Amino acid sequence: MKERKVIIETGLNLENSYASLPKTFFTRQSPSHVPSPKLATLNYPLITSLGLNAKALQSNDGVDILAGNKIPKGAMPLAQAYAGHQFEHFTMLGDGRALLIGEHITPLGERFDIQLKGSGKTPYSRGGDGKAALGPMLREYIISEAMNALGIATTRSLAVVTTGESIIRETELPGAILTRIAASHIRVGTFQYVSRWGTVEELRALADYTLQRHFQEGDDKENRYLFLLQEVIKNQAKLIAKWQLVGFVHGVMNTDNMAISGETIDYGPCAFMDAYDPATVFSSIDTYGRYAYGNQPNIAAWNLARFAETLLPLLHINQNEAIKIAQNAVSDFTKLYKHNWLSGMRGKLGIFNEELEDEYLIESLLSTMQKYGADYTNTFRALTFDEIEDTVLFGKIEFDKWYELWQKRLTRQEKSKVSSKQLMKSSNPAVIPRNHRVEEALEAAVKQGDYSVMERLLDALSRPYDHSREQDHYSTLPEPSTCPYRTYCGT
Ligand code: AMP
Ligand code: MG
Repeated sequence: MKERKVIIETGLNLENSYASLPKTFFTRQSPSHVPSPKLATLNYPLITSLGLNAKALQSNDGVDILAGNKIPKGAMPLAQAYAGHQFEHFTMLGDGRALLIGEHITPLGERFDIQLKGSGKTPYSRGGDGKAALGPMLREYIISEAMNALGIATTRSLAVVTTGESIIRETELPGAILTRIAASHIRVGTFQYVSRWGTVEELRALADYTLQRHFQEGDDKENRYLFLLQEVIKNQAKLIAKWQLVGFVHGVMNTDNMAISGETIDYGPCAFMDAYDPATVFSSIDTYGRYAYGNQPNIAAWNLARFAETLLPLLHINQNEAIKIAQNAVSDFTKLYKHNWLSGMRGKLGIFNEELEDEYLIESLLSTMQKYGADYTNTFRALTFDEIEDTVLFGKIEFDKWYELWQKRLTRQEKSKVSSKQLMKSSNPAVIPRNHRVEEALEAAVKQGDYSVMERLLDALSRPYDHSREQDHYSTLPEPSTCPYRTYCGT
């Protein structure tokens, strides 16, 4: 491994605090060598915000680092161990195709995990090859960047490189590696792993590490493990509300895919909903709709209950007391979520103050949208710009009644009509990564090596609240022939 170490001025400033945790939490592992790495896409704004050097990353050595062929100074690549409930079934998992290269400390002193996804087998690969295909890695790049621009906490994508090798799925596909940036990769599943197979002292080490890394105010709390639980619940209540507000369907909310940091993580079969329908499911493997759009808040609460269970030995010396504390904290999720969702929905409708009947107003719009198959994003956009005649709701009795109620509601606040419209513009995105637009970008990139379609899409997605006419191309709906859209885990 030594001769592969490289010193170039990438700006990477790496530490390895995770490696100081008990040895059972990870396995040190070098990335596999790949034959002919080439840069597919590089995230320049992210490079700048992390204090990295674009020129160095574009150089041959830089691309070798992004492909795992060379190890940057200060790196200590490792695969993290974790478990998880996958569709309710508990199992041992771990980084089977990803490696934590190190934690980059930015010039502002923030700490981010740098992870290579698709970098070869690890001890946790089980039957898998540890590799990733170009299409799914570009897809993660596009959607995670879109989420970030929408103001939703997420892991980000620094780069995708092609490896020059073919990987075998149903057909042969070009191999690729994504560089993922995350506040951390600690998952609910990481706690489940230590809780199931570790000692209480190891569990405490993980909880203390997590507090130190994400929730430093915990030091002053009487029960810092309860604080940890409450903060994780609070962050998830924020996150899931934001998903619902833009129509994001994660698709595989297994406990291993829920990050303790509160970032959206693991972009597999995720997609954005077109027509409003709580039963929306895209994932080909989600036969029973466990992870349907409308079920995401319930699943988050279920996952958080699993997280709370792992903390029981730390919450109170008496198990019954610990259970009470945990149940109490988890039951707050629904209230917190509802509060965040309602306030986000009020924003989407230009409402500043709170009235008890707002929930009824919101629900009755949503049920009318569902009844007529109205597009979620474009309906709110049309309300924002008084362009409702362009939607399927135009002329429908339920909608006309609702519209009257809404107009009256808007008069019962002090803020002007202009501020109300402003609020709507900043709450209702003009563009989301529409499935057919994402597909056409991926097709051009993967099949023709033409990245221009993806670049234009990324550009539009980077300013979702601009509402410029150039964005119209990205708000058109798919042809009915391309529905229903199906996604695959992309492994
Ligand atoms: P995911 O569905 O991507 O959240 O992955 C679930 C588990 O499968 C994780 O432990 C992954 O590391 C592992 N995994 C996914 N794809 C592969 C692969 N190609 N090779 C080895 N392990 C994989
Ligand atoms: Mg995962």
